[in-house]
Amino acid sequence: MELRQLTPQLVTNKKVLVRVDFNVPLKQVGNNTVVADNNRIRQTLETIQFLQQHKAIVLLISHLGRPQGDSEENLSLECVATELANLLQTKVVFIHDCIGTETKKQVSLLQPGQVTVLENLRFYEGEKKNDREFTKDLASLADLYVNEAFSTAHRAHASIVGIPKYLPSYAGFAFAKEVTTFHQLMTKPKRPFVMIIGGAKISDKVSAIENLTTIADAVLVGGGVANNFLKADGFDIAKSYLQDAPADLKKQGIDYVDVAEELLEETKQDRLMIDGYIPLPKIVYPTDVLAAKNPESNTSQQVELINNNHEVAMQQNLMYLDIGPKTTHLFKEVILQAGTIFWNGPMGVFENKTFETGTKEVAMAVAKASATTILGGGDTIAAVRAFGLEDRFDYVSAAGGAALEFLSGKTLPGIEPLLKS
Ligand code: AMP
Repeated sequence: MELRQLTPQLVTNKKVLVRVDFNVPLKQVGNNTVVADNNRIRQTLETIQFLQQHKAIVLLISHLGRPQGDSEENLSLECVATELANLLQTKVVFIHDCIGTETKKQVSLLQPGQVTVLENLRFYEGEKKNDREFTKDLASLADLYVNEAFSTAHRAHASIVGIPKYLPSYAGFAFAKEVTTFHQLMTKPKRPFVMIIGGAKISDKVSAIENLTTIADAVLVGGGVANNFLKADGFDIAKSYLQDAPADLKKQGIDYVDVAEELLEETKQDRLMIDGYIPLPKIVYPTDVLAAKNPESNTSQQVELINNNHEVAMQQNLMYLDIGPKTTHLFKEVILQAGTIFWNGPMGVFENKTFETGTKEVAMAVAKASATTILGGGDTIAAVRAFGLEDRFDYVSAAGGAALEFLSGKTLPGIEPLLKS
């Protein structure tokens, strides 16, 4: 999977339309709207600075939020332009529209090396509809196109799949890094390849879990997702969280416990050998958990599932809210011996200190591991950030849905036009 990449020759003195993901959280400070978290902006800096350095005119386009009409003042990208100027320490021009004659006129006045943010693409319905005229208007602003928004690569919108039909198209540096990292994970992981899955929702991860289970050597399951596997293997999960399947799956008589059961069945012959343990099954779910009446509780009790002493959880209507100490110990042993680790989803309700231990211990073990470590998912990132470990991993992906779709084995519509033929 080779992407067309930028070179100085390509961009010098050219007008370059760069699709970025500036869909950032905002907050009010007095009368001003400001950027609350500039992570996504920081990820684009390498590409923007490269273009600036090589005297390109940089035209940045993005969506922000879900505007209902053709303009919503609180979803303007103007505050993002201000934040970008602070990060780049240069002037950033903001253009109050993204298409039309006035926009074209303002673009024609820009000097090589200047950086511009255009207004929210989603103020036009044509963006989501991949409308031809809207796309052509956008493309007519520039000489070439760069996609630096991997997190939107699963969407067939005008600025992602439309523009490449009209302009020579290239991948930005962060986009290329994300694709290379995940492609490598799926094709040539250093073994043993250990996948760690957690979080509450299985719905958005299920296709990636199914695909990566065929590639990984071990799958460690914690969090609410583990409840599906426990139930599938005949354990009672008391009042624990279990995500309901969507209507279309239910109609076919399928829920996520069935999906878990199928995965357990498909992998029942596979064994994972780790030093000091009898061979483990490929999919490892908790043998003990920390349980309580509700996620807000400030006390917990350890419930050992394997020894079948979980009647207490049943009688007291408890929820399983973190992996227990025995499971944590086992997960750490596996992590220690991994060659590659991919982790998405916390091991418990880490937002409450009572149930943070599993996630924290796993985070520290992954951070210390000699393996190549790749992390994904908003809550996993929030957790490692809260533990002060964010910089301790080889790659942290904030691409959310796009990354999970890519890991499920799909070719994303936004990647296709950037591939070398
Ligand atoms: P997700 O977006 O699916 O990765 O879910 C992240 C959320 O899962 C976090 O807010 C955690 O509090 C929650 N979570 C983790 N483990 C559990 C659990 N055992 N039961 C309920 N929620 C959980």
